[in-house]
Amino acid sequence: MNKIQILMYHQVGDFAAMKTHRATYCDHRRFALQMRGLKLGGYQVLSMRQTVECLQGKRGIPPRAVVLTFDDAYENFYQYALPHLQRYGFPATVYAISGMLGKSATWLADDGHAAAPLMSVARLRELQARGIEIGSHSANHIRLGGLSASRVREEVTRSKWALEDVLGTRVDHFCYPYGSHDLHTLQAVAEAGYLSATTCERAPVSWTDDPLALPRKAVAWGDSLLGVWWKMHMKNTPKRPLIRR
Ligand SMILES: [Zn+2]
Repeated sequence: MNKIQILMYHQVGDFAAMKTHRATYCDHRRFALQMRGLKLGGYQVLSMRQTVECLQGKRGIPPRAVVLTFDDAYENFYQYALPHLQRYGFPATVYAISGMLGKSATWLADDGHAAAPLMSVARLRELQARGIEIGSHSANHIRLGGLSASRVREEVTRSKWALEDVLGTRVDHFCYPYGSHDLHTLQAVAEAGYLSATTCERAPVSWTDDPLALPRKAVAWGDSLLGVWWKMHMKNTPKRPLIRR
């Protein structure tokens, strides 16, 4: 049975060596190699929409299926990731934080990292016009697990409406900030009308998975091509069973 490997990226660019948060930075030279590796390796890069269609049984999961996701909508995506994606015609999903468009990732500064610039509305529109899927990564980038139902609804639904308003299109895909989710969050995401949502659990996606709790593999700063291959094919952790009613 074929499975889908969803890769999780955050920032792509030119970074000094680092000891912390390595999983949220990817060297742009390595990114170029990874994209080339996917192409030469015969991987089929699916959009999130196509992934949902696979999970709905509308299409079969092709062999060597991969999805590329980029959390937080960092501006460096435009310079360092997009050209490689376009070179190979790979689709990708960028998850934007509706309340922080055009601002910077201030939560990184709390950990001693630079508060990197986030994409503006104009940039998101441009990317959308170039075929990149824009999803929601909440309104304020806070952990949703354990929050009150009304607070979760606010983050999940308000961000969808806000992004749909500025993009002029449906926003069907959600990404849990910090991967934090529980049954209430899943329920809120379902009620908001999202078709998919991604977590940070490390596993491949199979056709039986809940589309609102899709696991992913983080590509880190130190990952060589072999490292990414190993993560895709070997590195899995059991998923927490969250069964929606
Ligand atoms: Zn994030």
